[in-house]
Amino acid sequence: MSHKLSLYENVSQQFSRAADLMELDADVRKILAKPMNEVSVNFPVKLDNGHIEVFTGYRVQHSNVLGPFKGGLRYHPMVNMDEVRALATWMTWKTAIADIPMGGAKGGIQISPHAYSMPELERITRRFTFALGNTIGPDYDIPAPDVNTNAQIMAWLLDTYLSTIPPAERQRSLHVVTGKPIELGGSVGRDKATGQGVVYVIEQWTRDRGLDLGRLSYFVQGYGNVGSWTGRLLKPFGARLLAVEDHTGAITNADGIDADDLHAYVAVTHGVAGYPQASAINHETFLRTQADIFIPAALEGQITADTAPLLNVQTVFEAANGPTDLEGDRILAERGIELLPDILCNSGGVIVSYFEWLQNKRSEAWELDEVDTKLRKRMLGAYQRVRNVQREFGDLDWRTAAYIVALRRLERVYKDRGIFP
Ligand code: NAD
Repeated sequence: MSHKLSLYENVSQQFSRAADLMELDADVRKILAKPMNEVSVNFPVKLDNGHIEVFTGYRVQHSNVLGPFKGGLRYHPMVNMDEVRALATWMTWKTAIADIPMGGAKGGIQISPHAYSMPELERITRRFTFALGNTIGPDYDIPAPDVNTNAQIMAWLLDTYLSTIPPAERQRSLHVVTGKPIELGGSVGRDKATGQGVVYVIEQWTRDRGLDLGRLSYFVQGYGNVGSWTGRLLKPFGARLLAVEDHTGAITNADGIDADDLHAYVAVTHGVAGYPQASAINHETFLRTQADIFIPAALEGQITADTAPLLNVQTVFEAANGPTDLEGDRILAERGIELLPDILCNSGGVIVSYFEWLQNKRSEAWELDEVDTKLRKRMLGAYQRVRNVQREFGDLDWRTAAYIVALRRLERVYKDRGIFP
């Protein structure tokens, strides 16, 4: 029986396939095959009941050859070194494809955040930041939100980090974290950026295919930041949202679900279960939804050997990181289902994080239309670079083409700079 690949083994195999095909320089390949730094910290926090609990947190820095390490922090019970390593590596490819001067990193805490009170989450975040110490820094490694983390958590991280550095450096160190609240130096448009980027990619893809987005139907897994923004931003185009699933269950409505109304419902109930304008369905029925597009926007490992045969769509746009494993990829390709990969589709988040970082460094605050215009340009540029490589290799799959775009850029930089000593 074949062993189920870990998330990092998946990334390594995706990398190998592209590296073989493009004949990546053997020395550069050795360097990129491993993350640069891996930090694991165990830190104690006093809970509301007076007892101490020891938490485990991670930060993996894959590469900073293109610029400072950049990547989100995730709070989830499944967080472990292998997962963080995979997510950090994807960040390196993503920033390279988006052509921004940043590297790849990721981190998180192995925790069920819903099991803790807000004051506990604040203390956990502050103590984690303190434990990371100089692992992060405004021009070295810049965290951002990811699953179960948000602007509030970034604000606590910022405040704690600033308290640990000399007072004279504080005002010019706001860019140690992105995805902050606007009043603390966050950027307008960062909250919706990942969903907005997904929508720009879908728009361009429909233009390329001569399709009318207003006549397409889709369904979404995950209705958090990325899933709900994607839904809300697709709504004005008239695309029909047929089903949604999150950690509380799955729902469907053949006439379409109103993305804004569902968002307002989830804001109160914290889940899609029980939404009155739709009917409950099970996981398998959800996956079998007949639609044009499927947008996974929750966690990794959702489209696999078990689930890929169930999908009834033309195209998958990966809004989550790593939702499809290698077997899932292979089965979708066999079934003629096109897939646009995470490292292209969801790069809107890191692009606007980069804009936030730039605004902080320059003491500027851009308007929303400036952020959106610049984001659109970057997303379409990335899309076109991947499309060109796809054509160059004779209709290559989108994922491998995206890898080749990233690896070519990284290879050029290593060749120009050389290796010390
Ligand atoms: P989030 O915490 O805001 O939302 C996560 C969603 O996934 C929630 O709706 C949750 O209910 C759902 N979910 C969790 N477990 C599930 C399960 N077993 N089945 C179905 N749904 C489940 O997180 P987010 O920021 O929206 O991130 C979602 C994905 O997008 C992740 O893969 C993340 O790495 C990726 N991503 C996020 C950003 C960003 O800017 N936030 C950027 C790039 C990529």
